[in-house]
Amino acid sequence: MSTSTMTRDAVTSYTMTAIEHMRSLETVIDQDLLAAIPKSKREIIVEVPLRRDNGRYVTFRGYRVQHNDARGPFKGGLRFHPTVDLKEARTLAHLMSLKTAVMNIPFGGGKGGIACDPKQLSTRELEQLTRNFTNLLGDNIGPLIDIPAPDVNTNAQVMAWIVDEYSKKHSQAWGVVTGKPLELGGSVGRDEATGRGVMLATREAAAERGLNLKNSGVIFQGFGNVASFGARLIEQELGAKILGVSTSQGAIYNKKGIDIDSAEVYYRQNKSLRGFSGGEWMTNDELLVRDCDILIPAALGNAITARNAGAIKAKILVEGANDCTEAEADRILLERKVFVVPDILANAGGVVVSYFEWVQNLSNHYWGIDQVRKELERIMVSAYSNVSARAQELQTCMRIAAYTVAIERIARAMILRGL
Ligand code: NAD
Repeated sequence: MSTSTMTRDAVTSYTMTAIEHMRSLETVIDQDLLAAIPKSKREIIVEVPLRRDNGRYVTFRGYRVQHNDARGPFKGGLRFHPTVDLKEARTLAHLMSLKTAVMNIPFGGGKGGIACDPKQLSTRELEQLTRNFTNLLGDNIGPLIDIPAPDVNTNAQVMAWIVDEYSKKHSQAWGVVTGKPLELGGSVGRDEATGRGVMLATREAAAERGLNLKNSGVIFQGFGNVASFGARLIEQELGAKILGVSTSQGAIYNKKGIDIDSAEVYYRQNKSLRGFSGGEWMTNDELLVRDCDILIPAALGNAITARNAGAIKAKILVEGANDCTEAEADRILLERKVFVVPDILANAGGVVVSYFEWVQNLSNHYWGIDQVRKELERIMVSAYSNVSARAQELQTCMRIAAYTVAIERIARAMILRGL
């Protein structure tokens, strides 16, 4: 995954705008309570020790921000990256509370990680660091308390070490993290889940805007987990053409459509898309403003800026990546009537299947792929339709509508529980 350069301001400012819009809802919620929603419930900072392979003793700073658990246990990723800090974890934890609420799954929001460069660590060092971090988090995580998941530079193996370390002091608890290997209580369908969710959000948005997908062209920024699954599913299940994809090195574009399977094979063999004969090679910036009907940024935070928003040709923008549209760019897109499906709705397929993984762990009963896909579709379609109805009711965009749905659910849970 790529590191988001998100600032707290964008999410908080959308939250504040959404709260303003909520004044016109039938049932008015206490504004003081709403104003407190951006604040985290608990912020944990730990100094994680590590004995390096060369014998040196060092420490790395670790974080876990637990934003809100009114609707259920905190849920959100752990990232290992030099830029991890409290501010980033706060924003992303807040965003997770909104995402789980808009999808109506019974979780709150959390986020954390370790400020380290895992590329500089051996496998033994990475394992030891993960185990020491798990111990320091202690009883602050748990299947009914706070459930971390993979994020930037963490994966199923890191989750397996957390399960093992946690289980030494607690009973065997697969449900303490999600995104685990299948052998240790992972769920089928987790790999494709975010891409599948993006495909479903795209399908719903196209139907709402009267766009015939069979005659449509889609550009993806990125070609990693979200973009490669998303592109293949949009091509195969919706019949649209994929006109462009990109990696950190550059992009390919073909107005007749790219064969995604061949591009994947080429990318795997060459570690780059440069030289792929099925598309014209160009810069990432150029790709974003090429002709297409739908643009799906699925790589980086802040990819759509005030600099490129005015030149985007797409009629629909589906946010595969978190916080990929800067606030000023969002305003320009709105003015230009580009229909934006916001991140907390469009890329929530991953956390929904993480929820299925947790349900399977708690019940010790495992689902087949058809059940995972069917349930994911049910939840995505229902969330999309709630947000779309709210956008019409409040005469606002999908982002502010999604925020109001989420904030209302969180606030109601807080009120019902008693303050
Ligand atoms: P990934 O690391 O698998 O893929 C990222 C892709 O972006 C790679 O193909 C990389 O080459 C490309 N990229 C990097 N820099 C680029 C640049 N400057 N221009 C164009 N492409 C560039 O990550 P992912 O899991 O696919 O996640 C993508 C985004 O989606 C991230 O913002 C992540 O936070 C968000 N997201 C992911 C999930 C998930 O389940 N994987 C869930 C929700 C949100």
